[in-house]
Amino acid sequence: MNFVSTRGETPALAFSDAVATGLAPDGGLFLPENLPQFSTTDFAQWSGLDYPGLCAAFFRHFAQDIDDETFSGIVAQSYTTFAHSEIAPLMPLADNLQVLELFHGPTLAFKDFALQLLGNLYGHQCAARGQSINVLGATSGDTGAAAIHGLLSKPGTAIFILYPDGRVAPLQERQMACTAADNVYAMAIEGSFDDAQTALKEIFADQEFRTNHRLSAVNSINLARVLAQCVYYLWAWLRVPAAQQDNVEFVVPTGNFGNVLAGWMLQKMGVPIRGFKVATNQNDILYRLFTTGEYRIDAVAPSLAPSMDIQVASNFERFLYFNLGRDPARVREVMATFKATGKYTFGDFDRDTFSASRCDDAQIPAIIKSVHAQYGYVADPHTACAFADIDPDRLSVVLATAHPAKFPETIQSAIGITPTHPSLEILKQRPIIKHPVAADANAIRAFIEARAV
Ligand SMILES: *Cc1c(COP(=O)(O)O)cnc(C)c1O
Repeated sequence: MNFVSTRGETPALAFSDAVATGLAPDGGLFLPENLPQFSTTDFAQWSGLDYPGLCAAFFRHFAQDIDDETFSGIVAQSYTTFAHSEIAPLMPLADNLQVLELFHGPTLAFKDFALQLLGNLYGHQCAARGQSINVLGATSGDTGAAAIHGLLSKPGTAIFILYPDGRVAPLQERQMACTAADNVYAMAIEGSFDDAQTALKEIFADQEFRTNHRLSAVNSINLARVLAQCVYYLWAWLRVPAAQQDNVEFVVPTGNFGNVLAGWMLQKMGVPIRGFKVATNQNDILYRLFTTGEYRIDAVAPSLAPSMDIQVASNFERFLYFNLGRDPARVREVMATFKATGKYTFGDFDRDTFSASRCDDAQIPAIIKSVHAQYGYVADPHTACAFADIDPDRLSVVLATAHPAKFPETIQSAIGITPTHPSLEILKQRPIIKHPVAADANAIRAFIEARAV
């Protein structure tokens, strides 16, 4: 299995090379050359596996340049850092409502699923090739923390994470800036997340700089992240009652579109998932897309669910690629038009599969309160967005993307309870070490240049 760029101007790469490269040199995103088609025989074999076993079995179809035993070892190591024995427990709240808890990893958000694995893949690659690697990413909060914890003190690696100063939750910042690991650089950018992402794209477009520093991207554009996220959809789907398996709607708190894209790709691989609800906060570019067909940039309004505060969904290009009949020339054309005009209107986009909901800051505390009253369940502000508009005719599986203890103020104001978590209490005792940098590609390049391994 090889991996191709959505823009079609990069030669196809094997799994390890596509993972190491991150963003394709032509500016596109990597995707499998073709999607495997799974069947009931596969589902029967997989239903008895534990989480790491399922993950390894799934990746066998993609990571074909790493031998099975090595890959299984990498996977096993990646999920030992999770605090729950089931890794991704499925909690029933009602007959037609379940919560898939994705926050039992080291940074208490779903991004650990992909980034623990990606960190170990990088570690494996450094060892196998005898080369150091410098990882660079932009974050609106949880990605940076999860990426850093995936690479914490790993020999041969350094990690540089850009985040909008003052616009991530205080505990998210502590998860990035209080690790005390000497290969970690939390870079506080003067600007928005989109400013950070724009600077990052410019740096990755600089081939010489990229090559000289063996730079790899860790944000949601990395192929390994999307694939790792397919696994928990599969895990959950295999666990719902057989009679409801053809009526499952995953409800996904959405920002950059990486999480829900993974579920949708799994559906394209033959897993009969009925639908996906894209749940946004007040930064609702994707809500507007899936309700009107128009994808149009707007300003970012900081919200109570900060990890969803984006206005350009970086994974969107992968979705576009499939929707344009996998024609890279058309992807290039549409992306160029979008860049120039800030909008794009879809003809069709799998309307039968996707629905959408939106939730503004006034609604988030009210939903946290009603979910707590109705089900005795404490949802973090991101997960709360998913409860905005549950379809009573489906089996809704809500993805709980973060632990409520990461957002204690919002939960406290909604239900009068302050959730805590031991790992966060430890961070509060440590000093914050962050590096303020202008939202400017040259300033960022200079910072990296001085510290790269
Ligand atoms: C990153 C994140 C999201 C958004 O996920 P995308 O893949 O960017 O759509 C939602 N909730 C939490 C808690 C997150 O950390």
